[in-house]
Amino acid sequence: TDPALIRNFCIIAHIDHGKSTLADRMLQLTGVVEQRQMRAQYLDRMDIERERGITIKSQAVRLPWARTDEENGQTHILNMIDTPGHVDFTYEVSRSLAACEGCILLVDAAQGIEAQTLANLYLAMEHDLQIIPVLNKIDLPAAQPEKFAAELANLVGCEPEDVLKVSAKTGVGVDELLDKVVRDVPAPVGVKDAPARAMIFDSVYDAYRGVVTYVKVVDGTLNKRERIRMMSTGAAHELLEIGTNSPEMKAADGLSVGEVGYLITGVKDVRQSKVGDTITQLNKGATEALGGYKDPKPMVFSGLYPLDGSDYPELREALDKLQLNDAALVYEPETSAALGFGFRVGFLGLLHLEVIRERLEREFGLELIATAPNVIYGVTMEDGTEHEVTNPSEFPTGKIAEVQEPVVRATILTPSEFIGAVMELCQNRRGNLLGMDYLSEDRVEIRYTLPLAEVVFDFFDQLKSKTRGYASLDYEPTGEQVADLVKVDILLHGDQVDAFSAICHKDKAYAYGVRLVSKLRELIPRQAFEVPVQAAIGSRVIARETIRAIRKDVLAKCYGGDISRKRKLLEKQKEGKKRMKMVGSVEVPQEAFIAVLSSD
Ligand code: GDP
Ligand code: MG
Repeated sequence: TDPALIRNFCIIAHIDHGKSTLADRMLQLTGVVEQRQMRAQYLDRMDIERERGITIKSQAVRLPWARTDEENGQTHILNMIDTPGHVDFTYEVSRSLAACEGCILLVDAAQGIEAQTLANLYLAMEHDLQIIPVLNKIDLPAAQPEKFAAELANLVGCEPEDVLKVSAKTGVGVDELLDKVVRDVPAPVGVKDAPARAMIFDSVYDAYRGVVTYVKVVDGTLNKRERIRMMSTGAAHELLEIGTNSPEMKAADGLSVGEVGYLITGVKDVRQSKVGDTITQLNKGATEALGGYKDPKPMVFSGLYPLDGSDYPELREALDKLQLNDAALVYEPETSAALGFGFRVGFLGLLHLEVIRERLEREFGLELIATAPNVIYGVTMEDGTEHEVTNPSEFPTGKIAEVQEPVVRATILTPSEFIGAVMELCQNRRGNLLGMDYLSEDRVEIRYTLPLAEVVFDFFDQLKSKTRGYASLDYEPTGEQVADLVKVDILLHGDQVDAFSAICHKDKAYAYGVRLVSKLRELIPRQAFEVPVQAAIGSRVIARETIRAIRKDVLAKCYGGDISRKRKLLEKQKEGKKRMKMVGSVEVPQEAFIAVLSSD
């Protein structure tokens, strides 16, 4: 295809503002999906995506379109590149945006701009994309198109009349929108006769075909059967198949400047075809990769343990399988005195953690205990040695010079009446105010830097409850800061329970210790002896409770008479024992671990 006829664009929208529905209408209007095959949210394939209404993986679809406002117009090729909508996947979003020249900024006409819209808009601006502001859901009685058109116009710097108003549900305005994409989005530019350079913006594992890699060709041409090279690793592969999606895969002879499509090399693991990497020919290929490649970096860690210890091999197998499709998922075996054999698993963020956990439970039928999520700490000792800590129980003891923790830049959007509540929450979470802007007279954008550890700990729920559900949040990592952090250990009868160790800010350590100790006292049944429950920083005890000893044998209650009752009681006791874990000399019911770990 002549690059002058190509338009590469994406849709950015806050969750539920109608991105998938708009994509559906575009598939229909351009005729790539026939009416009778149409089902809602055609492109959202994964079950969890459908149920939660989130898009985890992006895809690209090729849509032929001839302008309706022009007679005998030429057919253009529109490539709609779907971006993951969630903050955890910022890097993948940035790669998808880098494959586009323009984007549709889609905003619900009854809701207005939200945090996710803004965060993604800033990313789009960084990539110099042409932005087409669009209000959706104008069919809703609650829509306020005038108000929000003004808000949007103000944000992107255009006139309110330039904001298109559509209904993805009824289809009103969608053909005009496609015309506008053709008119306003610049055609891709690249060097036709240069060695090929193609940017990978997505990489998906398919059980039948192996890894399917989505690329945008920036320069030159990639041809079927050619030998190619991954520029970040130098690995060579043969191009078994190359083609486009409209929306099903359709093989082609090659892809050239500006084109977007898929390729298959037969590799079985997405880590061999990395998002952000550049592909070139093996022979006489390009020498300089396209910019922007980064290795995915896990930000949040949690220990995952099978509830039933004998499921450990199944858990390993399940993680191996999930990793084929998820280059950002990392894990290594770990043993916990309290929880047995499991894995320390690294995630991009909390949603990523939740999605993986849910898939392990749902698709692989595993029952899991997950330890409280924590971030990575960089610890420098006084003797100059450095440690990277991904498990709080491995926080070094001894003379520590400095502890570094990751921080994020958070964007919060809220109705102005909640400014006070939002700021109070952020201050409590050790936040640093960066700035505040009114988007309209009653809606405010507030920017903070916050320690990531404070955000993964219940922040979103708190934000929602303090703003009656109205605030929205987005954040991106911005580096590290030095902080006054300590490790709090929990001891049962003098033995440290590794699963409960936590890294806290010095000022919050005491509250954490008191809370855990009193919770455990409630949850752990009395034993044959007295059990002290303590929280300690190093050797200093900061909180203490005691579980008193049982006086009488349980069987004494039976007065010796009724044998069957006695047997039943013994059996019940045995049953209970099965679900007990021995922590040192103390029996702790499994439920206690779950209760303590999950209530945060
Ligand atoms: P996404 O999260 O941005 O992909 O949003 P969806 O496309 O899944 O839409 C979220 C909800 O809004 C769904 O229930 C849609 O049916 C509904 N919706 C989307 N577009 C419109 C529209 O133009 N009008 C109305 N009334 N509802 C819409
Ligand atoms: Mg969607």
